[in-house]
Amino acid sequence: MTSDSSPAPSRVRDLSTVDPEIASIVGREIVRQNTTIQLIASENFTSPAVMEAMGTVLTNKYSEGYPAKRYYGGNLIVDEAEELARSRARELFGAEHANVQPHAGAVANMAVYQALLKPGDKVMGMRLDQGGHLTHGSPVNFSGIMYDFVSYGVDETTEMLDYDVIRSLAVRERPRAIVAGATAYPRLIDFAAFRSIADEIGALLIVDAAHIAGLVAGGAHPTPVPHADVVSFTTHKTLRGPRGAAIVSRAEHGASIDKAVFPGLQGGPMMHVIAAKAVAFREALAPSFRDYAARVVTNAVALAAALTDEGFRIVSGGTDNHLMLVDLRPFGVTGKVAQEALDTAGITCNKNQIPNDPEKPFVTSGLRLGTAAVTTAGMGVGEMSEVARLIARALRGVGDESVRRGVLAEVHELCGRFTPYPELVG
Ligand SMILES: *Cc1c(COP(=O)(O)O)cnc(C)c1O
Repeated sequence: MTSDSSPAPSRVRDLSTVDPEIASIVGREIVRQNTTIQLIASENFTSPAVMEAMGTVLTNKYSEGYPAKRYYGGNLIVDEAEELARSRARELFGAEHANVQPHAGAVANMAVYQALLKPGDKVMGMRLDQGGHLTHGSPVNFSGIMYDFVSYGVDETTEMLDYDVIRSLAVRERPRAIVAGATAYPRLIDFAAFRSIADEIGALLIVDAAHIAGLVAGGAHPTPVPHADVVSFTTHKTLRGPRGAAIVSRAEHGASIDKAVFPGLQGGPMMHVIAAKAVAFREALAPSFRDYAARVVTNAVALAAALTDEGFRIVSGGTDNHLMLVDLRPFGVTGKVAQEALDTAGITCNKNQIPNDPEKPFVTSGLRLGTAAVTTAGMGVGEMSEVARLIARALRGVGDESVRRGVLAEVHELCGRFTPYPELVG
């Protein structure tokens, strides 16, 4: 035997030894997440247990198919993980069927459409510029290319969904399916109203609960599940799990949903992520998650109120869920300028169009802010006032370096008291 002192690559365990460049990036991202305020409404801090499940040998396993119906051998153990994920998803949402394989929310929606529709079918979805998602019929997205989407928006005055207007549009257009759900809508969605509209014209009701899944799971938003034919959702937003998605549905659609996910759209499932989804569903089934979901909403209401006190206009006058849209026009800055100014002051958020926005999508007049992540970090209503004050100070002093530094110092102090991953150091 030769005595080669350098071990084979697979034997070196330490990322910083194998790839110092990536290790450094991970380390700096840990510091960024621990020391700056995360207000992107679609983000959250998943638990160490979820991350541990993702970093396991389950990533090595090929498992095309479904539990007990796989194409390759060696799947008996990982079958248990997918079975747990599926049964916990059904329990969490009170659903008859669950598919936990979609790699992302966009793919989940693609699978839902493929299962229920034919190319060219007419579908109704929410306007992208008023809160809908790209996969709800945007012309640059597969959904707008493959299907004939007609869009509904929000009322010009209330900036909320008007179910009478949606009903009239549905009766006129007679879509095969209606998609309810949004990526930037701060109010409760009345899924029973959508069901009655769908029933009136014999349409299917698809709910995209990507944003609100955690609130639904925690009882802080009415559930779409009894009303919808199919509900797709991401697992990484308010649900606080790993990056990915799942689909729950009525039993009658189960076989076609499963077929659309695999072999329709995806190859092998990510078993490490499915295991992590199972962990997240278990966490969401715990009584403490109901408390979390309620606090997310309480914090959003408090942040919206504090921002109003600072002189911002909140679209629709407030929020019922985890997010709000802030109209920046009273401050005389665009969304683009505000996002960049806040970024350099340690506050992470995204510019967003407000309904009937006079600015272009890449500029915008608004910001979308969400409280799912800061609530996970332990912040409460007192901290929401502090955050609103810091945002206002930063945006009143755009371009003033001393203001920026002052805000950043206060952000670091605040995050020092509410660190999402105190056990991780960069
Ligand atoms: C985030 C989101 C998606 C897409 O999820 P990805 O995981 O980013 O593909 C789909 N629909 C809605 C409403 C969303 O908010």
